[in-house]
Amino acid sequence: MSLPSPIAPSGTDTPSLELKSVGHRFGGFQVLHDVSFKVPDTGITGLMGPNGSGKTTLFNIISGFLTPTFGEVLFRNRDIRAKSVRQRSLDGLVRTFQTPKVFERLTVAENVMVGAFKSGRSGFFSGLAGLPSAWREVASMREQAWTTARLFDLDGVFDRPSALLTAGQRRLLELARAYQGRPRLLMLDEPSSGLTTIEIEVLIVKLKLLAEEGIAILLVSHDMELMGVTQVVHVLNFGRIIASGTMAEVQEDASVREAYLGV
Ligand code: ADP
Ligand code: MG
Repeated sequence: MSLPSPIAPSGTDTPSLELKSVGHRFGGFQVLHDVSFKVPDTGITGLMGPNGSGKTTLFNIISGFLTPTFGEVLFRNRDIRAKSVRQRSLDGLVRTFQTPKVFERLTVAENVMVGAFKSGRSGFFSGLAGLPSAWREVASMREQAWTTARLFDLDGVFDRPSALLTAGQRRLLELARAYQGRPRLLMLDEPSSGLTTIEIEVLIVKLKLLAEEGIAILLVSHDMELMGVTQVVHVLNFGRIIASGTMAEVQEDASVREAYLGV
């Protein structure tokens, strides 16, 4: 008698992202050297490293703000080096920034809707121009934004100008807007900076929720508690990967301790 086949894992073997020997130079200064790693298409992958080690530069390369001097960047098995930032985000590669990019003069609702408007047919601006079909679409976008705002605890401030938000709410708003863009891979650059311990705990809950929904996450953070949500971490130092493993493993790694503590 044959045994029942095991339940298929939800993820696939195809990585979400693959970096192959990525290197980058600013003028004569090489800030990244031979960076290779894969980000699985489920779960949370961490990227750590002291200040100036090249984390944001790598994010800029992956999201399309910079073209790498060397190496390849594959997203869902396709070389994306020639694709624009916008094309990448349409493909589901969405990032947030070290300093939250919030449209101060828009309300929370409008900020969240901006994340979705790439997927709208009529477009946000024709909606503002008063076409009935576009208005219906905007109404439905607002409804979807409301659902997202609730997910990120922003329903209480939905129609408030975003200039009035706390630092923690700004981070959640950035996440909400990114989520509204239906990401397959969400890249977060130091999402806990400027947050209180309690706000970081909220952030941890939200990241776990996103991961449970099947969104792959690449997380840069200095916060050890936040990095506890990762399944695997890669450590950069002076633009090179010096260690990869679980948080527990890399924290024990002699080269990582040396990079951080100079011991
Ligand atoms: P991290 O995010 O890990 O703190 P960055 O990627 O911001 O590191 O920076 C890596 C190195 O590249 C630093 O030495 C930084 O000064 C340098 N760098 C970053 N952006 C530029 C730029 N546009 N031009 C020249 N050098 C840069
Ligand atoms: Mg940085």
